[in-house]
Parts: sequence; C-alpha cells; structure tokens
Amino acid sequence: MKKILVLHTGGTISMYEDEETGAVKPVGENPLINKTKEINKLADLIVEAPFNLPSPHITPNEMFQLKRRIDYHIKNSQIDGVVITHGTDTLEETAYFLDLTVDTQIPIVVTGAMRSSNEIGTDGLYNFLTSVRTAIHNDAKNKGVLVVLNDEIHAAKNVTKTHTSNVSTFQSPQYGPIGIITKKDILFHHLPTIERKLPVQSLCHRVELIKAYAGMDSSLFYALNNMGIDGLVIEALGQGNLPPATIPGIQALLNRNIPIVLVSRCFNGIVEDIYGYEGGGAQLKQNGLIFSNGLNGQKARIKLLLCLEITKNQYEMEKLFHD
Ligand code: ASP
Repeated sequence: MKKILVLHTGGTISMYEDEETGAVKPVGENPLINKTKEINKLADLIVEAPFNLPSPHITPNEMFQLKRRIDYHIKNSQIDGVVITHGTDTLEETAYFLDLTVDTQIPIVVTGAMRSSNEIGTDGLYNFLTSVRTAIHNDAKNKGVLVVLNDEIHAAKNVTKTHTSNVSTFQSPQYGPIGIITKKDILFHHLPTIERKLPVQSLCHRVELIKAYAGMDSSLFYALNNMGIDGLVIEALGQGNLPPATIPGIQALLNRNIPIVLVSRCFNGIVEDIYGYEGGGAQLKQNGLIFSNGLNGQKARIKLLLCLEITKNQYEMEKLFHD
C-alpha cells in the first residue's frame, strides 16, 4: 500500500453550514478527519492539520510552512504522495507556490470543496477521495503540483478559480485539464510543463498586485513607491499595454530598481511588446518591465515573491518569467 501524507489546512471542505442561519464556518473538529477511515483502505495515511484557516486567511508564510512539512516527510517518512485540502479562494496560489518550491517527483495534489461538509450535494469528501486516488496513481508522478476537483486534474500553473459558487469552478483557461477521473480510473491526456524550481530559504519581500483600467493614472504607483515595496505585478490591458498617464509613476518605481512584472487582465493569451504608442507594450518593455509568460496576476505575484529571494538581476528575472 502506498504511503500518502494528508495535510488539512481548512476551507469550506472542512466547514459546516449552520442550519438556522446558513452561515458557513469552521466548527469543532475537521469533518474530514472522521472520514479518513474510509480512505484508509486506499493508502497508508499520515494525517496532519498544520492549521485550520479559511483560505483568505492564508499568506505565503502558511504556504512556506506546508512546503517545509512536505520536505520533512519526503526526507523522513518515505511518502509516495501528498494530498492537501485547502479553501478554494487562494488554492491556486498555494498550489503554484508548492509547484515552484518543492523539488520532488512524487505527486502533490491540492483539493477543496465548494459546498461545506453538511450541505446537500457536498463535494468535499468526494474530491478528497479522488485526490487520494490520483496521488496513489503511478501516472501522477513527475507532473508537478496537481489540482483535483470535480473529476478533473489540472496543472497548478494553469488552473484558476473561475466561478464564485459552481462546483466546476476550477478551470485552466486556454489549456484545459491535463487529466480526468472516471469511476474506475485516472486518465492523463496531456503532459504539463515542469516548472523550474526556486529553492528559497526565506520569504522576506513585499510584492503588490495592481489591475489596470481605462483612465488609470500614476497616483497608485506613487503610493506604492512610498510604501517601500520590493516588487510589483501589473495586470495590464489586452496584449500588455497601459494608459499613458501611468508612465511617470511606473518610472518612479523603475528608478528605484523595483522589478515590475506585466501580465494581462485577459485570462487567455500572453503579454508581448507589440504596440508602439505611448503606454504600449513596446515602450513598457524598453523601459524595463518584465513580460510574463501567460501567468495570471496572483500567480505572477507568488513567482516574483520567490524570485526576489534568489536574484535581483533583471536579466535572470526576465529569464525566470519567460520559462
Ligand atoms: N471561502 C472559502 C475558502 O477559501 C471558500 C472555499 O473553501 O471554497 O476558505
């Protein structure tokens, strides 16, 4: 029997709905821990609950804590795979953080639920079960961190939460899932690209994320400059363009060598230096903005946070964001 590390971290998957008020919140013991016995038939489980947080409470520090627990068990417990249960709101950020930082070939599966444990049609136990089935499957090895919900397997790099309440919320725009889960089997139909690992020992930087809009000017960039940030991700318009009135504020950050990564607020496609007008991608690239290779804003922020621990060199950082 394979040995699987289970890390419960909180989220709707471990919450209850109050039958009178309808409020969904954590109450007492995580309901998944009771149910673990049913899943024990599939694998030899090591179960830990390092914290029990709604995922809007999770920060990169908790993500780092998970990385350390996984590294510890890989070294000391000869585990064959990992399953993490997590709130869905920031699940994609934790999954991508682990994808970039845990250097292993064993499957790491992150899952959650859109309905709490006592709601009609709850998806938590089912997603947990299918995640364990995925983690023990031989074909799940060496595929980076996987996100499993609603009978689909997604690559951490591409998956995003697309719907506020639907159980099929996790999608990989432009790429699709890399595998599906049937009643009897786990079938991978695409190979993900494996992320270059960023071996960080600490997390000491502050990176902010900001979204561009019609009529945006420099004021938010001046405010960010005063806040003493270490890096910035901008969700730019379309192909990778910004309103011209943002340029002086962006230049003020660049003058202090603050790395600025550009992604698009479009959820499909990749930013490129195509447009030559004031504020267009060509000018932004020439001014020193780093163009990201298709990541969404929240994931580019995680990557920049990690990159800053490794290099401040513009060329190296550009290379990391191009891979
Ligand atoms: N707000 C919840 C959380 O992220 C949603 C969920 O778990 O699905 O913790």
